[in-house]
Amino acid sequence: MARERFEKVKIAFEIETCKECPFVRRVYTVGAGCADDFHCCFPHHQKEGGLNNTRTFPIVMHYVEYSSDENPVPEWCKIRV
Ligand code: SF4
Repeated sequence: MARERFEKVKIAFEIETCKECPFVRRVYTVGAGCADDFHCCFPHHQKEGGLNNTRTFPIVMHYVEYSSDENPVPEWCKIRV
């Protein structure tokens, strides 16, 4: 038997970079030694590749090897308040 629906709530939290966001996915940077790319997988950005193809989503940080390579959260972020 299904439970009754709960009231929906908004949750807000502060982050410094997209690395801390639940919508980000980290993938190995093609051709790099040990760097990673970070893609914004917020559903709004879903394209033909679908949720299983992370590389089809917009990139928010490219070639991150050290913390100094990281970027701030972009202005176009859909959940930024
Ligand atoms: S752009 Fe916004 S939604 Fe996308 S990963 Fe960064 S913080 Fe998350």
